[in-house]
Amino acid sequence: MIPNPTTNAEQILRERYYLRDPKGVICETAHQLFRRVAEHVASVEGADKAVWTDIFYKTMTRLEFLPNSPTLMNAGLLNGQLSACFVLPIDDRLEAIFTTLKNAALIHQSGGGTGYNFSKLRPKDDFIGSSGGRSSGPIAFMKVYDAATEHVKQGGKRRGANMGILNVNHPDIEAFVVSKSDGAQLQNFNISVGITDDFMKAVEKSDDWELVNPRTQKVVKAIKASHLWDTICQEAWKTGDPGLIFLDTINRNNPTPHQGLIESTNPCGEVPLLAYESCNLGSLNLMKMLKRENGKVSIDWSKLKNTVQIAIRFLDNVISVNHYLLPQTEEKSTGNRKVGLGVMGWAELLISLGIPYASEDAVRLGEHLMEYIKVWSYETSKALATQRGAFPSWKQSKHASHSPLRNATCNSIAPTGSISVIADTSYSIEPLFALAYKRVGILGDTTQTELNSVFVQQMRQMGYWDEHLKSEVLKTGSIQHLSSIPADLKKLFETSLEIPWKYHLLHQQAFQKHTDNAVSKTINLPKSATVNDVSDSYLTAWKYDLKGITVFRDGSRQRQVLQHCSLN
Ligand code: ADP
Repeated sequence: MIPNPTTNAEQILRERYYLRDPKGVICETAHQLFRRVAEHVASVEGADKAVWTDIFYKTMTRLEFLPNSPTLMNAGLLNGQLSACFVLPIDDRLEAIFTTLKNAALIHQSGGGTGYNFSKLRPKDDFIGSSGGRSSGPIAFMKVYDAATEHVKQGGKRRGANMGILNVNHPDIEAFVVSKSDGAQLQNFNISVGITDDFMKAVEKSDDWELVNPRTQKVVKAIKASHLWDTICQEAWKTGDPGLIFLDTINRNNPTPHQGLIESTNPCGEVPLLAYESCNLGSLNLMKMLKRENGKVSIDWSKLKNTVQIAIRFLDNVISVNHYLLPQTEEKSTGNRKVGLGVMGWAELLISLGIPYASEDAVRLGEHLMEYIKVWSYETSKALATQRGAFPSWKQSKHASHSPLRNATCNSIAPTGSISVIADTSYSIEPLFALAYKRVGILGDTTQTELNSVFVQQMRQMGYWDEHLKSEVLKTGSIQHLSSIPADLKKLFETSLEIPWKYHLLHQQAFQKHTDNAVSKTINLPKSATVNDVSDSYLTAWKYDLKGITVFRDGSRQRQVLQHCSLN
C-alpha cells in the first residue's frame, strides 16, 4: 500500500534528508523520516495526538502531501527550524545591515531562504554623517551578503537562497539591473526590481521617471522610464535576472496592512512577507488526486478536499511546534500564522486527463482546481479558528469582516524543487521540461538521462512505445519532430520550451486568481526568443495582476538545474 521511494527520491533523501548518527552514517529510512515528522507535527494535538500522527504519516508516505524541505529535514530534532521562507529588514545603518546578515546566516544554516528589499539603503557615494565619508551603496552590501551565503553551506544540504529587491525609483537602480550581467556576481541571489503601477504607466506613456534618495527623500535624477524598462528586459533576456515584483498588486492584497507595507518576497517569489515574517509551505501531489472508473481517469474531488483539510491542519501545527531562531520571527509568525498550501504534479495530471497544457481547457481547469483548493483551505482555517482561536492579529486584519480565521494566508504555489523529486512528479504548476533529461545535483554532478515515466506509460498504453521512439526521445527530449506520432499526442506532450510563453503566463494567472500569497513560476522561453518577447511577457504579467514574474531563456545562464538532454 505504501510506495517505496523511487531511485531519484531515495538518492535525494539520502543526500539531504535522512538523519545521520554522529559519524555521519544514515540512521533512518523514508518511513522513519515520515514517522518522525508526523509525530512532531501532531504533538500539539493533545488527546488526539496518536490519531493525527497516523493521519499525517499516511498522507506523507502515500506522497499525497509533502511539507517544505526544512520541515522534512528538521522536525523532531532539538530546536528544529521548520520554515522555508523568511523576509528580513535592511535598515540604513551599518549595525542593522550586519545584524540582518547574521540572522540570515542562521536562517540559511537551518535550511531556510531569505528575501530582503535593499531600497532603504542610501545610494552609492551618498554622504555618511558619522565618518564624513561616502556610502558603498546597496549593491556593495548585497555582495557582502552573497559572499556570506557562499560560505554557509547549510550543513552541505543546500546552498542558501536569497531574494534581493531594489525599488524602481532607487538612485542605484540602473546599476542594480545589470549587477548579474557578467554571470559571476551575486550567484546566491535572485534579483528583482520592485515595480510600482506608476512606473508601468510611465513606461506605457514614455514619460520621465524620477529617482529618489531614500535618505533625503529628494529627487536626484530623472531618466526615461522606457529606457530603464528596455535595460531590464535586455538583461532578463541575457541572464534571467532581474525578475519583477509588483509591489502595488502585492499590497492591495496584503491581509494585514495595519502592520505596514510588504516590501519583499521570499527567494522564489511565492510568499510576500512583512519584515521578520516566515511562512510554512506544503504541496499537494495532484497525481495522487486521480481516480480510475471504467477505464476513465478523472479528478477525485472528495480525496482532494480531504487532503487539503489534513494539509492545512498540518501546516497550522507546524507554526506551533516550530523553533524560531529569532524572537522577532516568533512574534510575527505566530501573530499572523501564515501558511502556504500549493500543488505539484500539475503537468502530469493534465497529461493523465488527456488535456494539453497549451489549451483553454487546461487554463480553465487550473483556475477551477485552485479555487476548490482555496475554498477548502479557508473552510479548514475557519474550523481551526473555532477550535483553537483566530490568528492574534485577525481583528485588525482585512479578514475581520468575515468569520474568524486561524491563518492570515493559506495558499502559495512554491517551486517544489526538491519535494517533487521525492514525490516523483512534475514540478509545481510547470509543464514538463523535457520528455528526457539529465538532472544536475547540488554539487554540479549530472545523473543518467531519465525518461519521464508518465510519458512512457501513456505511449506504451497507446501502442507507440518502441526502440525507435525511445532513442529519438533520449536524443532530443521531444516528440515534435516524429512523423509517426499523431498531432493530438504531439500536442499533449509539448514541453516547456515548445509551449508559447502566453500559456505559461495564463497558467500562472489561473492559479494566482485563487492564491492569496503568490505563484512561483518560470516563464521558459526558447533560445530564439527576442528581447521584445521578454518585454511583452513582463508587461502582460502586470496586466494580469500577477505578483511577480521570472523569465528564463534557454541556454541564457551557464548552469541550469534541469538540462535538456540534447544540450549535453
Ligand atoms: P522544497 O521543494 O525544497 O521544499 P521549493 O523549491 O518549493 O522547496 O522552494 C520553496 C522555498 O524554499 C523557496 O522559495 C525558498 O524560500 C526556500 N528554498 C528553496 N531552496 C532553498 C535553498 N537551497 N536554500 C534555502 N532556501 C531555499
